[in-house]
Amino acid sequence: QLAEWAKLVNEPSVTKDGKQVELVANIGTPKDVEGALKNGAEGVGLFRTEFLYMDRDELPSEEFQFEAYKTVLEKMEGRPVVVRTLDIGGDKKLSYLPLPEELNPFLGFRAIRLCLERTDILRTQLRALLRASTYGNLKIMFPMIATLDEFRQAKAIFLEEKEKLAKEGIPTSDSIELGIMVEIPSTAVLADQFAKEVDFFSIGTNDLIQYTMAADRMNEQVSYLYQPYNPSILRLVKMVIDASHKEGKWTGMCGEMAGDETAIPLLLGLGLDEFSMSATSILKARSLISKLSQEEMNELAEKALNMRTVDEVIELVKKAVN
Ligand code: PEP
Ligand code: MG
Repeated sequence: QLAEWAKLVNEPSVTKDGKQVELVANIGTPKDVEGALKNGAEGVGLFRTEFLYMDRDELPSEEFQFEAYKTVLEKMEGRPVVVRTLDIGGDKKLSYLPLPEELNPFLGFRAIRLCLERTDILRTQLRALLRASTYGNLKIMFPMIATLDEFRQAKAIFLEEKEKLAKEGIPTSDSIELGIMVEIPSTAVLADQFAKEVDFFSIGTNDLIQYTMAADRMNEQVSYLYQPYNPSILRLVKMVIDASHKEGKWTGMCGEMAGDETAIPLLLGLGLDEFSMSATSILKARSLISKLSQEEMNELAEKALNMRTVDEVIELVKKAVN
């Protein structure tokens, strides 16, 4: 099996009836790029930038961040690199950025909510990204977007920083796509409206499942409710994908679900364009996809959307894929 997978390192990700998708990697630091490429990643689907902010005594400077983003973009040699702006707060804390204690950290002051309040932090990060953008194929996405207003505010700040750099005579790319993570149900429900304004979606199922099922992803006692194959989740995913395609945009997924063997046939059938996962899952996923037929997976997904329980969905996939 390992030998079979190794042959796929430089191959595209295609179903047996010719439908091509993109298999990309989740990374946390520039060091992870090597492993991503070795495992056949066609790009980076999620660069979790919070790691650049951790294990330090102060906010990372624009220069420090610029170097990190430039390194990743250069090493990826023109392949797409989706960088997520800072997703801190909630359970992820920074020693030098004291935040008020919260009763429900996962429902609180984190990610884009914090960044739209501390715009100084967001501006520094966007400046670093803009400056690095000429070194590769950069896409930027904002985490935990719950309303269109939040996206519009973030985009306005991005455009202001781009304008400032232009005035300073510093070159930036004009083809940076701006997208959002879909990890809050309100955003999935209004995906048709978002799709008119964003360039792409990336579905963050780790949070989307937790918020849809109202089950803390860290709480063992309710972990049975963490149900990627719940038809409610599948329907939300479908809404997002369909909405993006209607506007000629694309949808990826960067939660754990994207690399899950039972989920992949369903996601393929729902029309997902990009699957972002840990690097070590990529070749296995590519091999699986090469054995599936897009047409059959479309039918499979259609059926799954009308199942009533998770077990029924799992049963359905097992029968179809063996
Ligand atoms: C997600 O929520 O699915 C996601 C990819 O973000 P994180 O796991 O970093 O919250
Ligand atoms: Mg998340």
